Amino acid sequence: MGIASINPTTGEKLQVFAALSQEAIASSLALAQQTFAEYRQTSFEQRSQWLQAAAAVLEQNQDSFGRLMTLEMGKPLKSAIAEVKKSAWVCRYYAENAAAFLADEPAATDASQSYVRYLPLGIVLAVMPWNFPFWQVFRFAAPALMAGNVGLLKHASNVPQCALAIESVFKQAGLPAGAFQTLLIGADQVEAVVRDHRVKAATLTGSEAAGSSLAATAGAEIKKTVLELGGSDPFIVLPSADIDAAVETAVTARMLNNGQSCIAAKRFILHQAIADQFEAKLVEKFRALKVGDPLEAGTDLGPLATPAILHDIDQQVQACLQAGAQALVGGDLADLQAQLPEALQKGHFYPATVIAQIPAGTPAAEEEFFGPVALVFRVDSLAAAIELANATPLGLGASAWTQDQSERDRLINDLEAGAVFINSLVKSDPRLPFGGTKRSGYGRELGRHGIQEFVNIKTVWVQ
Ligand code: NAP
Repeated sequence: MGIASINPTTGEKLQVFAALSQEAIASSLALAQQTFAEYRQTSFEQRSQWLQAAAAVLEQNQDSFGRLMTLEMGKPLKSAIAEVKKSAWVCRYYAENAAAFLADEPAATDASQSYVRYLPLGIVLAVMPWNFPFWQVFRFAAPALMAGNVGLLKHASNVPQCALAIESVFKQAGLPAGAFQTLLIGADQVEAVVRDHRVKAATLTGSEAAGSSLAATAGAEIKKTVLELGGSDPFIVLPSADIDAAVETAVTARMLNNGQSCIAAKRFILHQAIADQFEAKLVEKFRALKVGDPLEAGTDLGPLATPAILHDIDQQVQACLQAGAQALVGGDLADLQAQLPEALQKGHFYPATVIAQIPAGTPAAEEEFFGPVALVFRVDSLAAAIELANATPLGLGASAWTQDQSERDRLINDLEAGAVFINSLVKSDPRLPFGGTKRSGYGRELGRHGIQEFVNIKTVWVQ
């Protein structure tokens, strides 16, 4: 398909871009390197002013940027606008806190003076996904730029207009032209950029296959990477939970971004004692969701971003059903298509689906379901809930619902995940580190830990 904006709601091709030539990539790298030589010398105060200005540009254009996201990847407009505001928040957060996070850290030794100083690395490449086209990029860019690095963005090939808009935000904010550049390149052009001696580190958010490939190249070149990969997050509900609050949150946690979020709740692990009640309420709420044009205010569920994602989720659901699982609601693509108006017939819509009674050996046990599908499992104890939650190669987030302190402690300690949220959905927040364990990746974004990923932690000893 190449680098193209295709509206997933209608199938309409909006704009097609040619991938950058070798020469164009070389000149972007040269500009980035030249810019870094001066940019690294700028003060936190100066960088902070630029990032504050970037936040203001985002807020001033929140409606048009939100609309652009919705047109390119189909998320409901309201969430898209909220994403632009959150991107402004992360710019401000690092503008205000980077100097403290990266201040010299004295250490008591037998030197006259010894301390740790955090210094920028240089050019950092970010390979980013389409599902949060603004947020994913800003959560990389804000700390990287505040630390004194310069950024190169290879965005997903289906959101090129978002990629260019983000570059323009930093230009409008007054940052030097080479501080943040978008490279419109395909996945096959990434390896050469990673190998370039001027690129010092890379971060990738996306699939395991892409992460593994980028990290293999970076490993061969002895370059640091951060990987934010997939998730199959559990959502555990125990008998003492507030069931209505849990169900309400479950719908949001599963349906955010039309079901295409790495930290969406994907496996609902219910204690037998409350399973019937929870399941019935969840099905009722899923049935009430309005599928339709994501630009319209009343729409809860827009299209999936690409035909491939639609195909994959349908295959996964059909494999579960053929193995004996039951669809309590949804799961029937033809039925949904028959109900859609003509204008949406070419869109990549999938029905809100709840699958229960899932036999062992189906894709539900091992794979990430990247769409509006809740997988429901039943257990008869806390131990069984934790065992099932951990029975996946992935370990990004986990949400667990209980009023019992000893159950909370066990869940916090024993769930194999980068984050555990009790009585809440899993979410990213600039003030807290974000990242995974197991095959969900390594390294952290956001918070103090995020800004310390791409720096030289320099030991200084003065005698
Ligand atoms: P993807 O195919 O891996 O694409 C992500 C990015 O990687 C795109 O820019 C893509 O470029 C690029 N890419 C693909 N193959 C590559 C390769 N071999 N070498 C270098 N770059 C490569 O991921 P996706 O399916 O679009 O995104 C969904 C996945 O991202 C899900 O698994 C989701 O859970 C995960 N995700 C994780 C987080 C997190 O924070 N942990 C957040 C959001 C999403 P092209 O578009 O040109 O192929």
